Amino acid sequence: MDQPPAPFQYKLSAYQGRSRAGVFHTPHGELQTPVFAPVGTQASVKALTPRHLEEIGASLILANTYHLYLRPGDSLVAEMGGLHKFMQWPGPILTDSGGFQVFSLANQRKIDAEGVTFKSHIDGSTHRLTPEKSIAIQENLGADIIMAFDECTSPYDREYNRRAVDRTHAWAERCLAARRRSDQALFGIVQGGVFPELRRTSADYLVDLDFPGYAIGGLSVGETKEEMHAILEVVDQILPEDKPRYLMGVGTPEDLVNGVMRGVDIFDCVLPTRLARHHAAFTHSGRINLVNAIYAHDPAPIDAQCACYTCLHFSRAYLRHLIAAKEILSASLLSIHNLYTLLELARQIRQAIIENRFDTFAEDFFRTRTPDGSASQDDGAKPE
Ligand SMILES: [Zn+2]
Repeated sequence: MDQPPAPFQYKLSAYQGRSRAGVFHTPHGELQTPVFAPVGTQASVKALTPRHLEEIGASLILANTYHLYLRPGDSLVAEMGGLHKFMQWPGPILTDSGGFQVFSLANQRKIDAEGVTFKSHIDGSTHRLTPEKSIAIQENLGADIIMAFDECTSPYDREYNRRAVDRTHAWAERCLAARRRSDQALFGIVQGGVFPELRRTSADYLVDLDFPGYAIGGLSVGETKEEMHAILEVVDQILPEDKPRYLMGVGTPEDLVNGVMRGVDIFDCVLPTRLARHHAAFTHSGRINLVNAIYAHDPAPIDAQCACYTCLHFSRAYLRHLIAAKEILSASLLSIHNLYTLLELARQIRQAIIENRFDTFAEDFFRTRTPDGSASQDDGAKPE
């Protein structure tokens, strides 16, 4: 009998150009890559049950260390049997390190060589995250994939990025040394802003530390798409082919195709569920916003080409009615559709790579869309 694959083995099933289709084995099941991970910030993908997520074919869910550390607390999650049991998600889970949220959400943060002191955005209480503390929290949470604690910067400040890359590397080594569990894959995070030479230094350094996977951080934070693509191409040349690559916090349909073209395997983004709560939906010809009066008498589904539960059952007119009546069902139905769109796109990309036709797939994909994925009308997307 065949031995079951070792956890965290990444097997490349097929590749075409720089695009890869693979399988990453985790203790809670395998991830068929490319894969899109819905975000469950507070151990909940907003407005959806785990049953919804299973039905739309989600495999990997992301939860946020910063939020769960502050509320309900990682020891409570551990006491309740860990994140899988607590949130009733049986499949693979990924947690971030808390770094990004500390740098973007917390009040009055102060960075030193050892870590970051910050005030909670919930009640103003003072906390401290260090590489060791981030790993301890992530071990309490118990995700399959965990992230090294890194310093997130603004992408254009070269001097700051140079210092942050050095610090990120020192912290990556401390994260490796702090681990106590062997059933979690710790990914290193490549930083360096929009500067190719810093990204090269960062990728080289982390590859020497031999992580089971690599994340590319500090992108989609204000730089242009061209700059993001250039950095992905730089990093792709250095990261080992037999380890998964995770592009953090990036995930419009266009980003998925562009990322896979540049060697990325794993994506996550709050955008699909955030758009849903602002009544916006992805379609094959760009985003639409269902609050718009033109949909009041529209019997068509959101997207005639979509096979999700929402599109198989409900009209644009009904969805617009729910939004007007402030019925919370609209958030669930739109989240199902938006997440299904990305999950299905990742499945189609994977199939196209396996069948060696991803280049024509990508050509067809971009033929029907505006370059940045927005429809001509305002899609009403606002920050959360
Ligand atoms: Zn749909």
